[in-house]
Amino acid sequence: MNSKPYTLLIVDDNPNNLFSLHALLDRLLACRVIEAQSGVAALGILLEERVDLVLMDIQMPGMDGFETASHMKMTEKTKDIPVIFITAFFQDGEFVRHGYEIGAVDYLTKPLDDNLLLNRLRLYLQLFEREKGLQTTLSLVQQKEHALEQVNQELEARVMERTRELEIRNQMLEREIAERKAVELELRHAKQVAEEAARAKSDFLATMSHEIRTPMNVVIGMCDVLLDTRITIQQREYIIKMQNAGGMLLELINDILDVSKIEAGQLLLMEDTFDPCQLLNHTVEMMGLAASRKGLELTLETSPDLPEFILGDPVRLRQVVFNLISNAIKFTDSGQISIRLSRDIARDGASWLQMTVQDSGIGISTEKLDCIFEKFTQADSSITRRFGGSGLGLTISRRLVSMMGGSIQVKSRPGEGSTFQVRIPCRMAYASESLPHHVTEIAEDSHSSTLCATDYPPAQQEVIPEDINLNILLADDSEENILVIQAYLMNTQCRLEIVENGLQALEKFKEKRFDLVLMDIQMPVMDGCEATKRIRHWESQVGIAATPIIALTAHAMMDVTQKIKNAGCDMHMTKPVRKKYLIEIISYFQKRRVSSQGALKGSS
Ligand code: ADP
Repeated sequence: MNSKPYTLLIVDDNPNNLFSLHALLDRLLACRVIEAQSGVAALGILLEERVDLVLMDIQMPGMDGFETASHMKMTEKTKDIPVIFITAFFQDGEFVRHGYEIGAVDYLTKPLDDNLLLNRLRLYLQLFEREKGLQTTLSLVQQKEHALEQVNQELEARVMERTRELEIRNQMLEREIAERKAVELELRHAKQVAEEAARAKSDFLATMSHEIRTPMNVVIGMCDVLLDTRITIQQREYIIKMQNAGGMLLELINDILDVSKIEAGQLLLMEDTFDPCQLLNHTVEMMGLAASRKGLELTLETSPDLPEFILGDPVRLRQVVFNLISNAIKFTDSGQISIRLSRDIARDGASWLQMTVQDSGIGISTEKLDCIFEKFTQADSSITRRFGGSGLGLTISRRLVSMMGGSIQVKSRPGEGSTFQVRIPCRMAYASESLPHHVTEIAEDSHSSTLCATDYPPAQQEVIPEDINLNILLADDSEENILVIQAYLMNTQCRLEIVENGLQALEKFKEKRFDLVLMDIQMPVMDGCEATKRIRHWESQVGIAATPIIALTAHAMMDVTQKIKNAGCDMHMTKPVRKKYLIEIISYFQKRRVSSQGALKGSS
């Protein structure tokens, strides 16, 4: 194998010239030298061998140097091989230009100067070397370009594929968005329908409860009137039974109404200042009789660090307490029920009011513990028969407590009793004006009015109906309610003026002086709140003292407590209004009137 990187072809018709040239060129170590004695022979060699440079004599017999070079130019393989012409004498410019035109790169004249020739050739070899380097670099660059091109193409293909994928995904996303929008629209529509249904349900319940409640009020009220007449012991027993049944029915209506209001998001908590110890004391006092009738001990323990006043909804808190204690009484046959009220400061510094109702009753099995807070759920269906109840009390209690920001927990074991614990945020407050406790009691307690007559706590001082003597304005559109109030006041010395709506009440009030106003809230033409507001406005314009106004509300209207207060009512009573309390309240305002008149006289 030839180890020399370059090949030189020397072409001369003179063998001597060839010999001496060959000998000279052998000094160029990097070159292999091939000889050709004619142009034709040179062309033949050029076609077979790879030649880097041709040194060619111009004057040759047959095909001369120019012709040979012209042939080389025409052949693809040989057209780029550089040719150095060797000429015997100096030629003119025309001759030389011709040589360059047909591919000569150089001319050398004979006799050849050895050093010049060698140096020239070395120069060419250097050029070849550089070109070779350049070629290598070029081919490398080309290779890289090619690779780059390939990468580029791959990248483009990948980008295209990804773009297609993205387009597909985009389409899917667009479809999904469209579907979601459609679902959202459907949901919104369904929500609207559900809201309308909830509203219709709650309207229906409100109407029904009003419809059931109105005749029930008469039944319970008339029982009160009957109980005050001359009757036998047995008749009394029957009437009390009838009244109890009416009370239970009203309680059930109240519960159903509360649940549906909570579910419709229509139940709002009011914000008031109250004494938590007093609230518990009154509730326990009120339930004492029911407990002692079953031979149960009912105790209340309050811790000394309780705040005097807190902020919250006393009506609803009382409802929860009432429900837990009445359950404890209902499900306990013997033993005791202990109620504890305390304050708990959590690690984060938050203050909680903690109320525990513990009984020694039948208890609840572990698997039933969770479901007793569900609507219409009772621990045992046989209990339904034995104990009665709607299964709504705990549902309402839990929802109310959670609306207050608190929780109810229960621990129980069958046969060993149950412990219910209520925790609500304890927000401190300062004292507010308050009515004597038995009066506020009635004003605030939505459920007490639905209890049986004998369950009420005894009045602090016996009130004799015949002693009460006030000018009372009664504004009520319900004939039945009017009938009941009239019957209640029959044996008193009170004078009752009756009007059918708020506007008439306002006009009558401006016409005549009254000692007390009984104002129904739900009335046609002008409601009780509006009428009260206008009465208060008129009083301040005219400059007379405010006349006590007692609002009469249906349970369904319990959420208007705040509104009633804002309107300027002194207090409110929940229907059915019970005779005993109406008389007590009238007597309270009569005493207040007498003492304020006394004070006036004293000061004048
Ligand atoms: P109701 O008492 O009207 O059935 P509640 O929602 O108040 O409805 O109570 C649901 C059920 O939880 C009751 O029926 C009873 O099975 C169980 N329960 C509640 N309180 C007690 C208790 N103190 N002791 C035993 N079981 C109780």
